[in-house]
Amino acid sequence: MSKHCSVEKNSECHFERAEGESRNLFLSRFLHFATLRVASVEMTVRLFNKASKHIRRSVWVALSYAILSFPCHSIYSYQNFDVAVYCRAQEVQQMDDPNWLKDRWDIIAQQVKVDKVYLETHRDTVLVDEKTITKARNFFESRGIKVAGGITYTVRESNRFETFCYTRPEHRQKAREIAEYTARLFDEVILDDFFFTNCKCESCIKAKGNKSWTRFRLDLMEEAARDLVVKPAKAVNPKVTMVIKYPNWYEHFQGLGYNLEAEPKIFDRIYTGTETRDPVYTDQHLQQYQSYLIFRFLENIKPGGNGGGWVDTGAIWYMDRYAEQLWLTLFAKAPEITLFDFSRMLQPIRQELRADWHGTQTSFDFDQMMQPIKQQDGTLVTPTTMARPAGYALELIDVFLGKLGKPIGVKSYKPYHSTGEDFLHNYLGMCGIPIDLVPEFPTDANMVFLAESAKFDDNIVDKIKGQLMNGKTVVITSGLLRTLQGRGIEDIVELRCTDRKDITNKFWQRRAFWGRLGNVHESSSKIVIPQIKYLTNDSWEEISCLTNGIGYPILHSADYANSKLYVLTIPDNFGDLYNLPAEVLTQIKEVLMRDLYVRVDSTSQVALFVYDNDTFIVESFLPDSVDIRIVTDRRISKLRDVLSGEAISGQELPGRRMWGQAASADKVVFNTQVKPHSYRVFQCE
Ligand SMILES: [Zn+2]
Repeated sequence: MSKHCSVEKNSECHFERAEGESRNLFLSRFLHFATLRVASVEMTVRLFNKASKHIRRSVWVALSYAILSFPCHSIYSYQNFDVAVYCRAQEVQQMDDPNWLKDRWDIIAQQVKVDKVYLETHRDTVLVDEKTITKARNFFESRGIKVAGGITYTVRESNRFETFCYTRPEHRQKAREIAEYTARLFDEVILDDFFFTNCKCESCIKAKGNKSWTRFRLDLMEEAARDLVVKPAKAVNPKVTMVIKYPNWYEHFQGLGYNLEAEPKIFDRIYTGTETRDPVYTDQHLQQYQSYLIFRFLENIKPGGNGGGWVDTGAIWYMDRYAEQLWLTLFAKAPEITLFDFSRMLQPIRQELRADWHGTQTSFDFDQMMQPIKQQDGTLVTPTTMARPAGYALELIDVFLGKLGKPIGVKSYKPYHSTGEDFLHNYLGMCGIPIDLVPEFPTDANMVFLAESAKFDDNIVDKIKGQLMNGKTVVITSGLLRTLQGRGIEDIVELRCTDRKDITNKFWQRRAFWGRLGNVHESSSKIVIPQIKYLTNDSWEEISCLTNGIGYPILHSADYANSKLYVLTIPDNFGDLYNLPAEVLTQIKEVLMRDLYVRVDSTSQVALFVYDNDTFIVESFLPDSVDIRIVTDRRISKLRDVLSGEAISGQELPGRRMWGQAASADKVVFNTQVKPHSYRVFQCE
């Protein structure tokens, strides 16, 4: 069981409950399974008793997998995480009417099992009165649901997220009063996405003085967090747990005062906005992988103190996109998932979110989701609102989340308050490279990946040198190379990332030193890259692109001390990373992922989630089925599909030999497929 007992300050440990529920879940599924197949039970039992011990054991194992993966349409508590629903002040206000609340809550609770609600006291100058909050709290607590408070510090959300002004006395006074009021009513209080400032009033301009807006706002919000929120809250309720929830635009936090360095130390816990919505048609263009990466990044900033992930129902074009956000949050091991929000859980299920691939046994099956849900009293309820896709998506993954260990990946360092090649790590995640983003330089890691944001560390070149001296490998991007020119990188290797561009769709993967052996791979469309220049015989092209008779590095290496520095060329449009041919991605993975026990060779938009206990998940975000080649360390001879129970045998891949030396360690290869918008979960054997 991986339930985080320490997270909920005042709650009992859930271990016993979870183990009991695990048995109950198994039994209830078994009975469900059995009743549907009652006609064949007698015959099965007779055959079972006649079978040998070995066969009986095999049948039992297969039956266990079948039962665990059988669709369950009964409402039940999740074993591996808590589910919370956030209620905005506008809805909490209406909870004064018990019938209004009961009618709506019943619809939600029949479709998804909820452990906790957040009742917001303030948003957009709406302050809910104490009598209403007490009524609402009693309603939920009488149903065994935990209750916490919420605050949104907005003046008018619809006016481009108009925040409080933290230099004007009347706003500061109001912010303090709201914190005190909420902490008096609840022992846990979370701040929703808006504890930043975008105010540029005359008062703020004057207070800023000669500081940059970033520096001014970082300092201002650190002070506001301490003096206007946490200190006043703790003064009225010393028991209160104060939680700051961060939104999804982590590359730009510092510019609006979200202080990831100071605030996680001021607040008791942090929380993570893991919503990514549609990567193409929303303004933010966040990549799907971010729902996983940002939770891990914030967990690395406050280990054990990242209370959960938070997803809304907005801006999706097919239902899987909603489910994927929930899944990736929990693949990152979030102990709690917050569904935003009460009113959106009541939005009708739109039939147009059923995609072409539904009905083909993909992970999220729209038709299966729409099946009636069995309630505890035995009645059946037909799904009607968005609470059901949430409940269904969570039920699907709860059956295996407990088997996963601690997430691991390629260590990548992003200093506090840094930006540069914004959100790039998520594109690499979408190319199948698991990224573990950390706020301190990971000197222990054998492989470190650095994007342009690493330039915010004044000593970054010395840190790179230190790794290479110690025999460890560093991969930097062309963007970081460009900014480190003149800052000492030439002390490692004299390379120039120029202003000239190349437009290419051909990639040359050389297999022999003299360039006579190799393959040309083509991308589906042309991509634009910066031209990197180097000194002949000083550093080397590992992968090249070809255009009009010449070529430029895509992956470049340079010897230094006891190791190599690699430079990965990043296309001008990061989305063009998805156009790189699978063979080119494989060669990049061979370098970046050499310390992981598994990698997956495929086209892009197939992500890999790796855990430290020989389990991993492959998830495809493609609209069609995709062939994948799973490559593992030689010690692994078989893969078990955790959901189907199927065993997959591998073939040993001999080490590639170049110039008489083994170029890669011997590996084992498993060929299989992933369906559209689906995951597969594997256990190594
Ligand atoms: Zn202001």
